[in-house]
Amino acid sequence: MTSQQVITNTSDNILNTYARFPIAISHGKGARLYDFEGREYIDFTAGLGVNAIGYGNEAWGKAIAEQAAKLGHISNLYHTAPPAKLAETLCQRTGMAKIFFANSGGESNEGLIKLARKYSFDKYGKGRQTIVTLVNSFHGRTVTTLAATGQDVFHNYFFPFTEGFRHAPAGALDMVKAACGDDTCAIMLELVQGEGGVLPLSQEFVTGVAAFCRERDLLLLIDEIQTGIGRTGSLFAYQQYGLTPDAVSFAKGIAGGLPFGGFMTNERCEAVLGPGTHATTFGGNPICAAAALCVLDILDDTVLGQVAEKGAYIREKVASMHSPYVTGTRGLGLMIGIGVQNASHKELAARLNEAGLLCLTAGAAALRFLPPLTITYEEIDAGLTIFESVMKNQGDLA
Ligand SMILES: *Cc1c(COP(=O)(O)O)cnc(C)c1O
Repeated sequence: MTSQQVITNTSDNILNTYARFPIAISHGKGARLYDFEGREYIDFTAGLGVNAIGYGNEAWGKAIAEQAAKLGHISNLYHTAPPAKLAETLCQRTGMAKIFFANSGGESNEGLIKLARKYSFDKYGKGRQTIVTLVNSFHGRTVTTLAATGQDVFHNYFFPFTEGFRHAPAGALDMVKAACGDDTCAIMLELVQGEGGVLPLSQEFVTGVAAFCRERDLLLLIDEIQTGIGRTGSLFAYQQYGLTPDAVSFAKGIAGGLPFGGFMTNERCEAVLGPGTHATTFGGNPICAAAALCVLDILDDTVLGQVAEKGAYIREKVASMHSPYVTGTRGLGLMIGIGVQNASHKELAARLNEAGLLCLTAGAAALRFLPPLTITYEEIDAGLTIFESVMKNQGDLA
C-alpha cells in the first residue's frame, strides 16, 4: 500500500468534513511518525492532544491487549475493575469526589451541562438553566456544545441550537457578572482556550469568576478536554490556578489514543445525577480504562514536572529564531501557541507538515504545538530544526 492509495481511498469513501493534510500515517515510535514510504515526521500534534505518551508504547499496548483478551466490554449494569480503579486514581490525584466516564470531549461537556442544570433544578426548580461561557471558547460539536461554544462561526447551518447559553468576553469579569442573571446556573470555561488560539486566562480573572460563582451558587464548570491529563504541566490545569471547581470534563489525552472521556464532580455535586438520569453505552469501557490507567501511571510527578520545562525550552528556542513570521509565543506547559504574521497560519502549517513537522493551527493567526508529553529533547530539537528552516525562509508565503 502507498500513501497515495490511502489518500485516494479516503477521499473516495469518507465524508469530506476534515481539511486533511496530504499525508498518510502508517506507524510511529516515541514522537516520530512514518508514512507508507517510510518518510519520517516529527509530531508536535499528538493527534490533537490525545497521544500523551507518544507512539508505540509497549506498556500501553500490553495493557490494552491483556484487557481485550480478558473482557472487552460489559454494560454499565455490571461492575468492572479498570474503570473503578481509574476513578479511584483520578479522585486521589485531584481531590475530586466522583467520576462519570464518557467517550469523547463533546459528550463529556454535555454531562457537565446536564449536571449544572439538574443541580439547579433540584435546588431552585425551573427557570435557572442558563450557562455563561466565554467568547472564543470551544466546547464541542454536538448541537448543544456548539451553542455553548462562544464563536459565531460555529452557530450556523444546524438551527435550531439548544437554548440557554450566553457568552461573555474572557478576561472581563464585569461582563461575565453582567451576563449572569436570575436564570443562570453555571459558568463554564477553558483555562487555556485551545481551538480559540491557545490563550491562557489570567489568574486574577479566574479567581474572580470562582468567587462570583460561590457568591451566587453558580456551578464552576471547567472544560479540561484539551488542558487536562498533564498537558499544561499539572494533571489538570485548574490545580495550577488554585481552583476548587464543581465539575471538570476531560477526554483527549486520558487514554493515550483510545476514545475516552468523562467528568469529575466535587462532593457538592456527587449525588445530582442519580440512576437513570445520565448514561452512555460505552462509557467506562474496560479496555479504554485499562489504557488510561497505564497513561496515568506513566504521567507521574517527574514526567509532569518536565512538561513545563520542555514547554519553556520550545518557546525560548522559537523566540530566539527571529523568524519574520513569528510574532510571539504563549501557552502553558506543552500547550503552545505561536502567533504568526506575513503569511496565513494555514499556509505555514501546510509548509511545516510538508517539511516533516506535524503541527496544528489555532484561532485566526496562530500555530499550535501539542507534542506528546513524553517527547525527548532530541525529538524536540529535530522538530525545531525543521521549524526554523521553514520559518526563516523569506520566500513567497505572503
Ligand atoms: C477537543 C475539545 C472538545 C471536543 O472534544 P471531542 O472529543 O472532539 O468531542 C471540547 N472542548 C475542548 C476544550 C476541546 O479542546
